[in-house]
Amino acid sequence: MPWTECDLAIVNGLIIDATGAPARPGAVFITGSRITEVRSGTVADSEFIARRVIDARGGAVMPGMTDGHWHPSYYNARTIADLDIQSPIEETVIHAVRHCQVMLECGFTMAVCAGAHHRLDVALRNAVNAGEIPGPRMLAAGRDICCTGGLTDWNPAWWKLGLEGLTMIADGEDEIRKAVRLNVKETADVIKFFVSGEGASFNCNQYQTTCTRAELEAYVDEVHRRGRLASTHVRDRTGTRWCAELGVDIINHATYADDQTLDLIAEKNLTLVPALGYIFGVFENGERFGLDEAFRKASFAAEDRESGCEVIRKAHKMGIRVVTGGDYGFAWVPHGEYAKDLGYFVSHMGFTPMEAIIAATRHGAELLRMQGDCGTIEPGKYADLLVIDGNPLDDISILCDRSKFVWIFKGGVEVRR
Ligand SMILES: [Zn+2]
Repeated sequence: MPWTECDLAIVNGLIIDATGAPARPGAVFITGSRITEVRSGTVADSEFIARRVIDARGGAVMPGMTDGHWHPSYYNARTIADLDIQSPIEETVIHAVRHCQVMLECGFTMAVCAGAHHRLDVALRNAVNAGEIPGPRMLAAGRDICCTGGLTDWNPAWWKLGLEGLTMIADGEDEIRKAVRLNVKETADVIKFFVSGEGASFNCNQYQTTCTRAELEAYVDEVHRRGRLASTHVRDRTGTRWCAELGVDIINHATYADDQTLDLIAEKNLTLVPALGYIFGVFENGERFGLDEAFRKASFAAEDRESGCEVIRKAHKMGIRVVTGGDYGFAWVPHGEYAKDLGYFVSHMGFTPMEAIIAATRHGAELLRMQGDCGTIEPGKYADLLVIDGNPLDDISILCDRSKFVWIFKGGVEVRR
């Protein structure tokens, strides 16, 4: 066996490398920010020299996870209006910076934003990349785009308020192109557009398409022409079909997608992010957080949850890439519970624990277009690694317990807690 020299050696671990290979005992060697070698079996002390050695004591070693639908600026909102007039920007910035740290502490080293107040996630991304604040590798979305009367156009007209912070209200192809361009100008990586309503909305439900096909087409065209990723909030059948036909890169929710739409999504290699954590949370915690009966029943009927899970079960069987991401940031689905999504994938959407881990790691990296650098434990990849006290393949829920993360590394640097 060749002599190995490295900065950090993680030995005596159960390696879950997320490549699709079975978990196996072994060691991971890291120099600088990257993995240099992965060795199977028992590795003797005499086989390597390392500045630091970590004994995983038989616990799992896996790549950092991904939240594919993250709102860093949302903070324990109890109603959708809380995301707007109840979120002054000064407090919102403080919360968002803290959520970046929380994300790392939960073992999430990658995130795709699904809309943020102002251009806050752009600033967070830049600050994280510059090493000014701790946080995950991130694709920023900036402000999302919605047509008049769509989901996030919730302020009644007589209030004489726009939605300056969160959403750009745009109608017609020209306004939508302009809204995309404003996000491009702010260097957003991914641009989010609302295609369907939502049960929580007073003016558009989850079965309604809130834009025209021409508006959606203009959005996708403009986003792709500028080399960005298109990401839509879409639940209804027709809207989801359009998203698949037009090649929306990240289709969030897809609650009522039909089989032909799933065929198209598979054919075009698009990604689904179910973001169902939000809906599960309504049932698990809604009452405790003061969601009134009407909100819980009318808005988020069990039908949404059942249909959403059924669509993802089918999509998974068809080999469609599905990535974890749960819309955390509302009171009933607070920041810090991101790993619950992996549990729902296993309990309700037909994933094995290994498949749920791959969805959150390898497929997450593919979603960020970072598959050359992240998502698996292989030589050459960034050392974004979790050392866990236990085996998530036996019990996926241990990933929800932050105390089980004995060590967390991002780019070979230990995350301080
Ligand atoms: Zn969302």
